[in-house]
Amino acid sequence: MSVDLSISNTLPFAKRIWASFVRRYSRLVLSGPCHCVCCNQNSPFFLPFTGGTSAIPPVNYKLDVVGSDLRHYSCPKCESSDRERHLKLYCQKLEVDRLMASARVLHFAPERWFAVFVAAAGPSEHIKADLYPVAADIQKVDMLAMSFPNASFDLVIANHVLEHVADDAQALSEIHRVLRPGGWAILQTPYSAMLQTTFEDAGIVSRDAREHAYGQDDHVRLYGQDIFDRFAAAGFESRVARHETALIDIDPAVYGVNPREPFFLFQRA
Ligand SMILES: [Zn+2]
Repeated sequence: MSVDLSISNTLPFAKRIWASFVRRYSRLVLSGPCHCVCCNQNSPFFLPFTGGTSAIPPVNYKLDVVGSDLRHYSCPKCESSDRERHLKLYCQKLEVDRLMASARVLHFAPERWFAVFVAAAGPSEHIKADLYPVAADIQKVDMLAMSFPNASFDLVIANHVLEHVADDAQALSEIHRVLRPGGWAILQTPYSAMLQTTFEDAGIVSRDAREHAYGQDDHVRLYGQDIFDRFAAAGFESRVARHETALIDIDPAVYGVNPREPFFLFQRA
C-alpha cells in the first residue's frame, strides 16, 4: 500500500490534528464569556467548523449564504453545533418545546443535542429517522416515500435536510401528508437572498461541482428568495421568526449562533 504524503493531502490531516488538539485543550479551560445552551457550560470561545474558514467554499461568501455560523460552529465542551444551539433557543423562546410535550414527533437526521432537547420536552412519540441511519435508535426512512399513515404526527423536524434531498417538492408533500392538519414543521435550510430563484441543476453530480455550485459537496440545491413560495406551494403557512425580533436579548457572540439564520417554522394549513 502506498501513502500519498503530498502537501495537498497532509494539510487537511494536519488541520484535523490541530482542531482535535484545540478541542481537547479547550475542554480543560474552566470558563469564559461564551455560553452553550446545550451543555450549559461556559467557554472562552466557540470553535470554527473543522478545516477552518479557508475550507469554506467561495460560493458561500459570494452569494452571502445564510446557514450555519462556520466561524463559531462547535462548542469546545460538548461539540454541539451552532444550528442545534440556535434551534433550541428559538424553540424555548417561542415555546415550541411546549408543543412537543405529549406530541408525536418525527425527527429527521437527529443531531445529538437537539434530540436530547426534544426528548426532554416529553413527546408521546419521538421517531428518529434518517435515510442512512447511523445508530440503532434511528429508523431508516425515505423522506420521499414514507410508510407512515396520513396525519401521523404533530411535528416534523428536518434541521438542514431539504438541501440534501433530490426532490424537495415530493419531500414537502410527504411531510405535509404525515402531519395532522394544523401540525408543525421545522425546516431549517441554508439559503441566499441574492438568488431570486432557487438554483439546482440535475447535471451537477460530482462532489467537487456540488461544492462549487451549492457550497457543500452533498447539497443538491441552493435555495433563493422563493424558498417561502416553495413551502407555501406544498400547503404550509409561514410562522417564520427572525433572531432580531424573537431573540433580541440573545447576544449571538455569547451564545455562538448566526443571528442571520431565521427560524423556519411552518404550519400545515
Ligand atoms: Zn456545549
